[in-house]
Amino acid sequence: MEKLLEIKNLKVQYNTDEAVVYALNDFSLDLNKGEILGVVGETGAGKTTMALSIMKLLPEHVAEVTGGNITYNGQDVFKMSKKELRALRGAEISMIFQDPMTSLNPVMTVGDQINEVLKIHHPDMSKQTRAEKVAEILTLVGIPPERGAQFPHQFSGGMKQRVVIAMALVAEPNLLLADEPTTALDVTIQAQILMLMKELQKKFGTSMILITHDLGIVAEFCENVAVVYGGEVIERGSVEQVFARTKNHPYTDSLFKCIPDLTTDATRLTPIPGFVLDSRTAPVGCPFAERCQKATERCVQVKPSIHYVEDGHYIKCHLYENEVGK
Ligand code: SF4
Repeated sequence: MEKLLEIKNLKVQYNTDEAVVYALNDFSLDLNKGEILGVVGETGAGKTTMALSIMKLLPEHVAEVTGGNITYNGQDVFKMSKKELRALRGAEISMIFQDPMTSLNPVMTVGDQINEVLKIHHPDMSKQTRAEKVAEILTLVGIPPERGAQFPHQFSGGMKQRVVIAMALVAEPNLLLADEPTTALDVTIQAQILMLMKELQKKFGTSMILITHDLGIVAEFCENVAVVYGGEVIERGSVEQVFARTKNHPYTDSLFKCIPDLTTDATRLTPIPGFVLDSRTAPVGCPFAERCQKATERCVQVKPSIHYVEDGHYIKCHLYENEVGK
């Protein structure tokens, strides 16, 4: 499989007046061409920082990369010139945010906004071809092309997110980063939007990272999954391997226990004991140690390394140090 993206030992911290927040700690992740990867974890785990790092969109002056690197198609993202970065954003990598209004301009018609994306990334494209492409992508996302003359406020939440998807895909990027793209929508619309993204992903052969806190969405829409905790990937494998629930990181195990089971009383949900990791202290040992029921003194002192428990499935936990997978 050909690698599209490689994140190696990335360390990102936010330096604020009050404290230093360690957002990513030795964060490593690979993505193959055409792969759909679900990145799952609680709020504050580092998922969005990961996405912003890939696009080199971390807030300047506050965010500091203190180690590691990101390679996209063999090129070091942190060493790219402004021109190369402009080409990377939009034409190569597109991002869909949770709130569609983050990406939409309220005073411009949606057709013009999609047209702008084409103008930036394909300056040589004729006006006629651009107009055809806008109509084509609107149709593909289920919006009648004539609605291209309308403004964002004339669209419902779900329809706005369709416009955002159209903008993200019109330049046919190789990688789509979707950060909780359906969280703001109601459940029925959520499913429609995710199906649409999957169909378009297949049509264009786009690789996709779907950031979510919802394991159900991962099971339904992704091939592979990376579980993030305390700013690092603590488990990675195919959806079959991770969801088989035979070998999991104790944190992934807790996530599974939190899923409401429709056959049981919803009041019997098992919350994960303890608090989400305080990312204001420099990480030592296992990031999950404070909440883990299987933690030992060693877990507090020594950071676990990656242990492959089966082909392509690894877990960062001392419990699996005698496993011999690859
Ligand atoms: Fe729990 Fe220790 Fe494994 Fe961390 S390394 S998940 S604390 S058993």
